[in-house]
Amino acid sequence: MNGSLPDIDPFGQGLKKMDSRNMPQWDDWQWQMQNRIRDIDRLPFKWMDPDQRHRLKSVCQTFPMAITPYYLSLINPENPEDPLMRQVLPSVQEMTHSEHSLSDPLNEDANSPVRGLTHRYPDRALFILTNACAVYCRHCTRKRKWSEGWDILPPEEVEGALNYIRHHPEIRDVLISGGDPLLLPLSFLASVLKEVRSIPHVEIIRIGSRIPVVLPQRIDPLLLEVLDKNGPIWLNTQFNHPNEITEASAKACDLLLRKGIPVSNQTVLLRGINDRPEIIKALNEKLLRIKVRPYYLFQCDPVTGTEHFRTSIWTGVDIIEHLRGHTSGLAIPHFVVDLPGGGGKVPIIPDYMMHQSGNEITFRNYEGKYFVHNEPKEPAS
Ligand SMILES: *Cc1c(COP(=O)(O)O)cnc(C)c1O
Repeated sequence: MNGSLPDIDPFGQGLKKMDSRNMPQWDDWQWQMQNRIRDIDRLPFKWMDPDQRHRLKSVCQTFPMAITPYYLSLINPENPEDPLMRQVLPSVQEMTHSEHSLSDPLNEDANSPVRGLTHRYPDRALFILTNACAVYCRHCTRKRKWSEGWDILPPEEVEGALNYIRHHPEIRDVLISGGDPLLLPLSFLASVLKEVRSIPHVEIIRIGSRIPVVLPQRIDPLLLEVLDKNGPIWLNTQFNHPNEITEASAKACDLLLRKGIPVSNQTVLLRGINDRPEIIKALNEKLLRIKVRPYYLFQCDPVTGTEHFRTSIWTGVDIIEHLRGHTSGLAIPHFVVDLPGGGGKVPIIPDYMMHQSGNEITFRNYEGKYFVHNEPKEPAS
């Protein structure tokens, strides 16, 4: 791709930061897509030496890079540990594979009755229409689906998936994820949404998309109209760090919310990026201010090429422990691990129930103080 960045250096000395005030095209999402940074040599990080650039270019041959100018503008180019940069910059660690990692640890492909659909829970189906993404998150759980060029589910397979949903009246919740469904050609997305919506037993549609975080300009009136027509739609996005909450991302969420689309957040717990209680607390409190509900905090899946991002389960438990009692209950997500082999998601909660004797259960509260709860007496039989 030869999309060229404009002649101004986004991070150059004495220049204003690149944004819509000095660049009229900035708010045009197609311009953002066309000008994505795909080549390591175009990264304005002075701390990167030629050797490093060379090594990262070879990582890109396996796992390509794509960063929107918008997302790049949120990164501090002087900080080699920037938490946003680490989500999008390839790393040589992606090439060291442990015996515990798999390309598809959740068995999504094996639990797939027809191409494009994963039916793991009786009442919910996951519908993957594309592998297209604006930004390639290095911790992607579906890294196995990456390819040069985008795959979009061909019409006969879309029809096959729709038919499967039509013939399974127990499916009341269809999750359209990806890839990023909000990057699909709008007429295609509109027709799929319309078809899903016309199935009487489908009560809600959920969209999984990182667009509000990495390409908020995409939330435009035409897209909003398509979503509005096919509601109830819930949108789950993925903010992983407080620095991702900007005027632009807040506006994208606001536009969705004003169309009656509740926006929830699914954070991935990432080593060295957001694995400290104060970061998740700041993130979730900022999310509430833009009326986005923290829904899940995910244990990072053991996916090949993402091993270096994984934390211990106890890191997540400790984060939840630091939230409960110390911030709004609304700011506390469920910490979940998606069990390898397709076992599904299980929540992990710090233990507050200390012991039981007879009718008495002793709890500890968030301050570590103990309180006794009395169970109702067994009703006489
Ligand atoms: C996460 C997931 C769902 C939805 O789970 P919820 O707990 O309802 O959000 C459905 N299907 C698959 C395959 C999933 O991975």
